[in-house]
Amino acid sequence: MLLDPTTIILMSALMAIAMSVVLFSAYRSYPPEIKGLNYWAGSLLLLVLGAVLFGLRKAGVPELLVLMAANSALVCGIGLTLIGTQKFYARPPSWWLLGLLWLLSMLGVGYWLIWEPSFAARVAVFSYLVSVLYFYQTIIVWRYGERHFSTRFLIALLGVQTVVVFTRGTLAMLFGSEMVNILTKGPFQSLYLALAQFMILLLAVSFNAVSTRRLQGILERRSTLDPLTQVLNRRGFGDMYLKELALLRREFSVMTLFSIDLDYFKKINDNHGHIIGDRVLVEVAGVIGKALRMSDHVARFGGEEFVVLLPATGLDRALQIADRIQKAVRASGSGELPAYTVSIGVACQSNPEENLDGLLMRADQALYRAKDGGRDRIEIAAPVLPTAS
Ligand code: GH3
Ligand code: MG
Ligand code: MG
Repeated sequence: MLLDPTTIILMSALMAIAMSVVLFSAYRSYPPEIKGLNYWAGSLLLLVLGAVLFGLRKAGVPELLVLMAANSALVCGIGLTLIGTQKFYARPPSWWLLGLLWLLSMLGVGYWLIWEPSFAARVAVFSYLVSVLYFYQTIIVWRYGERHFSTRFLIALLGVQTVVVFTRGTLAMLFGSEMVNILTKGPFQSLYLALAQFMILLLAVSFNAVSTRRLQGILERRSTLDPLTQVLNRRGFGDMYLKELALLRREFSVMTLFSIDLDYFKKINDNHGHIIGDRVLVEVAGVIGKALRMSDHVARFGGEEFVVLLPATGLDRALQIADRIQKAVRASGSGELPAYTVSIGVACQSNPEENLDGLLMRADQALYRAKDGGRDRIEIAAPVLPTAS
């Protein structure tokens, strides 16, 4: 049994309000770098408002006023999803496009209501303008979306919506108003109306899924990064090490670890204050990072100790890199920050049985020797020979 159009509109309006609340509370509770949810929340309310305004036509309000207001609400409502999506992907919001489409829709409604009354022409104008908004959004999500399932789903929905809306405009042009009047009862109209309302909700749900997925990524990154220097923390480094160890075992390779500690860092804090101390730590992380390749890993294990892992790198190459780090550190510390140096303990791992604790312990022992030997030095840990089996 098919529901009558008023019931369908009423039910979807209630669901749209509920979805708007969901999106708005996500906007309030997610980290501020996730933008755009508020626009999507507002868009659903505008669409509901548009539906309510259309209802006023029966209440004796002048038709021109009703149609202008209702069309404005719908065009702006769908336009807000575009703005929200652009904010979400850090694209400049196209307020001008929204303004232009709104203006064209007003001109279209005015012309085909007063001068040449035609319901079909009004539907065609509205559908074509809105399909521009959906099409543009499809392109943006396609180009800038993170590659995962929820993005692909959103792209598919936006693409389908573009085609459906565009087709509706074309049907209105070709076959006139009977085909597309959604308030006329009939199986085709009810089906179209139910699907159209459902699509709007599905789009909102899908955008919500995309933003939840982004939240997950942000939280994952936060849990593995050092908040001060943005290099890996102990947990992130542990994960990396396990991946590199698996590779080493598979390829009978060798990797090298540096334990890097700032010399007399306490004095920097004492003489210049903790804030300058923190800035030195940020600078060191940057200097170390610049001296490495993309495939290498840097971590800060708390305090003023950094750890570097160089996959597929033997002692000779590693010593060159350690030397490069040390020279770069000496050369920095100019300008506002005081001069400083680092000591480095180097440990190579070729034994697949050794674990991170053992490797770190050897690198730290070498580091202590570098400190004992006068600091600003590099010392090498004795290798662990593979256990005979
Ligand atoms: P050494 O050459 O032997 O390494 O001497 P040091 O002064 O660098 O080493 P020590 O371990 O005595 O002091 C480390 C100092 O690092 C003590 C602590 O105040 C400072 N520190 C630890 N974490 C932080 C941080 O997050 N920010 C700042 N500014 N200082 C920190
Ligand atoms: Mg130190
Ligand atoms: Mg230390």
